[in-house]
Amino acid sequence: YQKSAELLERAKKVLASGVSSEFRKYNHPHALFYTHGRGSRIYDVDGNEYLDFTLSQGPLILGHSHPEVLKAVAEYSQEGQLFAGQHIKEIELAEKLNQLIPSAELMRFCLDGSEAVQTAFRVARAKTGKQKFLRFEGHYHGWMDNVCWGISTPSVEALGSREQPNVFPWTQGLPEGVENEFIILPWNDIELVRKTVAERGHEIAAIITEPVMCNNGCIEPKPGFLQGLRDLCSENDIALIFDEVITGFRLSLGGAQAYFGITPDLSIFAKAIASGYAISAIAGKYEWMQLIEQAKVIHAGTMNAGNPTVAAALATISVLEKEQPHERMFRLGKMLMAGLQQAAAKTGQAMLVEGMGPMFATSFTPIEKTNDYRDTLAADKAKLGKFVAAMHEEGVRVIGRGLWYISAVHTDEDIETAIITAEKVLAQI
Ligand code: PMP
Repeated sequence: YQKSAELLERAKKVLASGVSSEFRKYNHPHALFYTHGRGSRIYDVDGNEYLDFTLSQGPLILGHSHPEVLKAVAEYSQEGQLFAGQHIKEIELAEKLNQLIPSAELMRFCLDGSEAVQTAFRVARAKTGKQKFLRFEGHYHGWMDNVCWGISTPSVEALGSREQPNVFPWTQGLPEGVENEFIILPWNDIELVRKTVAERGHEIAAIITEPVMCNNGCIEPKPGFLQGLRDLCSENDIALIFDEVITGFRLSLGGAQAYFGITPDLSIFAKAIASGYAISAIAGKYEWMQLIEQAKVIHAGTMNAGNPTVAAALATISVLEKEQPHERMFRLGKMLMAGLQQAAAKTGQAMLVEGMGPMFATSFTPIEKTNDYRDTLAADKAKLGKFVAAMHEEGVRVIGRGLWYISAVHTDEDIETAIITAEKVLAQI
């Protein structure tokens, strides 16, 4: 790791904190800088090869450097950079999403998930005439001031010491008497949401949720939970927003909403939509999205929907449609989950493996699996850090907070390699 270490020193002189962020954030022994990625593998500057389950934090659903995506980007780059509202590719992409995603009657594109969430909030306020939002503990909806606390950057300092009553670590609850833009509830408790909506529904413009909780463990909605939210929103003039930044294209081509059969009013897509090229979508039902018209609700951005980026999205979706990899991704993911569970049992490690297959999470907790996200929040983060770092030393990359992503190009052999490696690592740590 000599070259990576040297690069970190060089980077520190010009990049704030030198980045190599996963390793800095999770206190790993080695910084890591990559040169390139191919298929399910990535390569660092010291010539080490890794089997990759991070997929660059999720977007690379077709693995690294998929030839059809690269070809589309190269081809449309030759046409020059044409931006939003000016070229045919954008219309083609919107037509495609309209066809695939149940709630996507109208949509707009921007650059990342965080931005799209903010537009969704504006649309919800405009349509309902209400100001507050209901969201859930431990869910992540981007790094804008109003939503980024409540997960891994809970401090007021992290927001430049912003002096606002809505900036506080969610674990502490709201200070007495302070009103907040957000009402934050535990995830998966429909009775509590019902009670809250009965009392405060007249103030709530939207309920936003990750349909599967993926930013603290990987936890499925309890049976009836999403339907319960759907009913409460319909009955109380509240927008139901699905943040499908992780679940979109990953659980199915129609996202979690097609997978679970629950249609939100508004939804957010990013990550896997374009194999890592910077594009996201805010999509929704006509009566909500039509408010983005003649700047009644502003949605802007100079760099939105450039044609090579949109071409990357179209190519990604076209490969997914041709290859239909979802069944395989579920099978491989579940095989890996089962293998990791067995490896943990064999080595006597209290490792919790939870999730859906195409994405899942590992954490270290003495608590029996109850599918309660609070178990995951209480897990041993230092032990997880050791596990991820040791996996890295052995050539398998997992996201620092224990999330694993399966791509369309992972193979049965890749899964076996990961299981064998995990067993070796679990025996050591
Ligand atoms: N929502 C969810 C569920 C996410 O996981 C993320 C990113 N991890 C975001 C929103 C923010 O998306 P972006 O990083 O593209 O701004």
